[in-house]
Amino acid sequence: MRIAMISEHASPLAVLGGEDAGGQNTHVAELSAALAAAGHDVKVYTRRDAVDLPVTVRAPDGYDVVHVPAGPAEPVAKDALLPHMKEFSGWLVEHWRGGDWTPEVIHAHFWMSGLAALAASRQTGVPVVQTYHALGTVKKRHQGVQDTSPARRISYERELGRAVDRVVAQCQDEVGELVRLGVPRSRMTVVPSGVNLTTFAPLGPAADREPDRPRVLTVGRLVERKGFQTVVRAMELVPQAECVIVGGPPAGLLETDPYARRLRALAETCGVADRVKLVGAVPREEMGRWYRSADLLVAAPWYEPFGLTPLEAMACGVPVVGTAVGGIKDTVVDGVTGDLLPARDPQALGTAIQRLLDDRIRRFGYATEALRRARRSYSWGTAAERLAELYGEVVAVRRPTRVVA
Ligand code: UDP
Repeated sequence: MRIAMISEHASPLAVLGGEDAGGQNTHVAELSAALAAAGHDVKVYTRRDAVDLPVTVRAPDGYDVVHVPAGPAEPVAKDALLPHMKEFSGWLVEHWRGGDWTPEVIHAHFWMSGLAALAASRQTGVPVVQTYHALGTVKKRHQGVQDTSPARRISYERELGRAVDRVVAQCQDEVGELVRLGVPRSRMTVVPSGVNLTTFAPLGPAADREPDRPRVLTVGRLVERKGFQTVVRAMELVPQAECVIVGGPPAGLLETDPYARRLRALAETCGVADRVKLVGAVPREEMGRWYRSADLLVAAPWYEPFGLTPLEAMACGVPVVGTAVGGIKDTVVDGVTGDLLPARDPQALGTAIQRLLDDRIRRFGYATEALRRARRSYSWGTAAERLAELYGEVVAVRRPTRVVA
């Protein structure tokens, strides 16, 4: 099939760890690669955010990345991109009408891509599949006045869910959120993200570590909702271990990053500064080395639309201590592949980490089951197969639409 992925802010070619570059970038890159490997013709449309970007770049994994001119050719925070979506969709329509390649299906990632996809669909008749990756309702609930999303995000997300041909939810928690938002259950299919089982595997090189000091790893963009403060506080209850935090700006820029400074100050206050290490952004291909160096992964977000890092750790045979939120409730099986805890509770988190570090038998049991679960249920090949089937369905059932000239 000819498949257009739209990922307006999250390029599959981006360096990860920064404020707006994380799971969605990985998801789009891996899904596109898996679909291309299965013989599909995939183009990813993302916003041109630098002047020197060519219009089309062939990714090594066999799909094209097309840089769409929409707004200034420089980085723009994703919450400020809405005014440029009309230009984005207008460019797509021109490009498809004037060129020799038109998609059979559009898969939009994030709500703003959905708006651009829907506008393009109304003029071209190409069906749209929507993955939200994150929901405005959940973000508002947790971040309150600090949520910088555009005011109409939530109503746009509701309208999108009712207008697109199919909604792909990534986990059961998201299904419930979407139903509460007003998107009918009958419009949704659950297809979880996958994990790259070649990059993330138990055997392979590991990052250096002190042999006698247990390592607790935590990974993510350095933003408040990822719960790194809870992890730092929890380290007070884990006196023998070190805590390594991967993510954020590149190592050289960590000194000036406001959130990194706050974490360091908190570690000083808690008396754990000598055991908390911030590594900064790590290239995707090197992430496996960090997971393999750890005794366990902690994922302590306040909320998590899906959460790739627990799954990546599991695929490396590393147990997870996570908060019972969002997709983590699906990927981590409590008491089997890891432990699930309430969010924002350093006491519970520290106690669980220490208990697991003290119990080698339990840790090995979790590691074995984590690896088995990641391999059985979360390969990108399986996700791509299910989505290709779904694309086929929406193309087949779409009634002839009124195409606006
Ligand atoms: N990641 C990375 N380098 C970093 C930090 C994160 O490659 O320095 C990757 C990580 O391996 C995962 C993604 O970024 O694939 C983060 O995805 P997740 O779903 O955990 O969080 P999100 O960023 O979507 O909130």
